[in-house]
Amino acid sequence: MSSDNRSKKILIIEDEKSISDIIKYNLEKEGYEITAAYDGGEGLAKALAGNFDLILLDVMLPVTDGFEVCKRVREKSSVPIIMLTAKEEEVDKVLGLELGADDYITKPFGMRELIARIKANIRRADQLTEEPERPSEVKSFGNLELDLSRYEVKKNGQALDLTLREFELFRYLAEREGRVFSREQLLEEVWGYEYYGDIRTVDVTVRRLREKLEDDPGDPKYILTRRGIGYYCKRPEA
Ligand code: CA
Repeated sequence: MSSDNRSKKILIIEDEKSISDIIKYNLEKEGYEITAAYDGGEGLAKALAGNFDLILLDVMLPVTDGFEVCKRVREKSSVPIIMLTAKEEEVDKVLGLELGADDYITKPFGMRELIARIKANIRRADQLTEEPERPSEVKSFGNLELDLSRYEVKKNGQALDLTLREFELFRYLAEREGRVFSREQLLEEVWGYEYYGDIRTVDVTVRRLREKLEDDPGDPKYILTRRGIGYYCKRPEA
């Protein structure tokens, strides 16, 4: 159970009722409050209307597919989203992350793994929202400004639209300027738990960050690749 006493609310959007039911049963045992939706349209409506702590979102859904639901929810809310993807559909995982999902889990999955992921994602979101008001702490990095209390990066005074994960990855690298980290290390440090080895998550997040931070994402000056090893951050020369 989480640190605050209110039970956490989870929305399950999954059209296979047998899967939805077994997830619901197991999560209720853990103390979560569950709402189920059985197609993408119903799921999207509930996601936008409700105040959920996390959404479990199947990809293959009638009416509106999981990617579209993810994209539309993300336009309005930063609620953690875990996508449920079918085995071997690697492209689904990457696309889900590109559309703003926080995590994904591949079917068939074990309940313990699912619950671990749910806890990790809710804990992370809680840490970010429950952080007490601090005086703003801003660090400059080249022509970027990282506001550590507001989880914001500004470029030439303009706030960039980073997801929390993108912010955390950039902050992690920027605070350790010059040190090269492997994708595995970044998964562990920034994603915060064992990620079952899909290092492509890091590449996708780096690519998105570059699109937002860099003048020319094809010729990055902030987040650099050390071929065969990983990524590092550097302050561009003035
Ligand atoms: Ca399905």
